[in-house]
Amino acid sequence: MTHTSGPQLSARGLTRRYGPFLAVHDVDLDLAAGDWHALIGPNGAGKSTLLNLLAGTIRPTGGRVVLAGRDITRTRPARRARLGIARTFQTPAVLESLTALDNLVVAAWRHTGTRTGWRPARRRELAARGLHRLDEFGLADHAHTKASALSHGQRRLLDIAAALTANPSVLLLDEPAAGLADHDLTLLLDTLRRLPALTAVLMVEHNQDVVTSLADTVTVLHHGRVLATGTPHAIHTHPAVAEVYLGTPHEVG
Ligand code: ADP
Ligand code: MG
Repeated sequence: MTHTSGPQLSARGLTRRYGPFLAVHDVDLDLAAGDWHALIGPNGAGKSTLLNLLAGTIRPTGGRVVLAGRDITRTRPARRARLGIARTFQTPAVLESLTALDNLVVAAWRHTGTRTGWRPARRRELAARGLHRLDEFGLADHAHTKASALSHGQRRLLDIAAALTANPSVLLLDEPAAGLADHDLTLLLDTLRRLPALTAVLMVEHNQDVVTSLADTVTVLHHGRVLATGTPHAIHTHPAVAEVYLGTPHEVG
């Protein structure tokens, strides 16, 4: 994909310390509209921390985060969400006691602002949109199933569907394919491929097939630093990357 404007989301010198420990260390990263960028690295490399720094759920010790030219380093996560950054967590953050559809209704209601109140007409409108989204995700038959009764894979899909209710320009996914059975994995890949073309996606993912089939660019984190960035092929054959993984064979997810 060609890019006519600057990056959608950028990190510059992004750093997060925990005491003397550098969980994320001087990371530069650019995500342009339409990019599919995978973030890989051994356990503890700092991948989730980096996602949290971009989403705003933790504050950096140093460095900057810029969204469409605007410095959002000090911007709270809810505001970042309204500015276009959506994210999912390693563990799906669905509301277990609500139905799949109500999860999407609540997500949309939160996003559009609770000031509009909870009028029946508003609820019907959000429910119609939610049903459409569930259909896209192969979940239409489960619209009225409680989230707690869905499979792990279905909950993950629901979590991603909820993240998309905000029509984000940037989507941050933490291990979307983790623990998915083949059928759910196929559904996930099909669904992600149909995201709006200009959505910039950064995903933490260990599944090599997922990375190869979706990502244009792969960044390898190691001890909080960027070890390498390149095409999936270049990264796959990168000697230093092989060394990192061979050095920690049991930590590769
Ligand atoms: P990854 O997602 O790549 O497996 P994380 O970003 O979760 O790694 O963690 C990176 C490192 O930072 C790990 O060594 C982890 O123990 C440490 N870390 C993460 N959060 C905290 C915290 N709140 N306090 C102290 N150390 C943390
Ligand atoms: Mg993680």
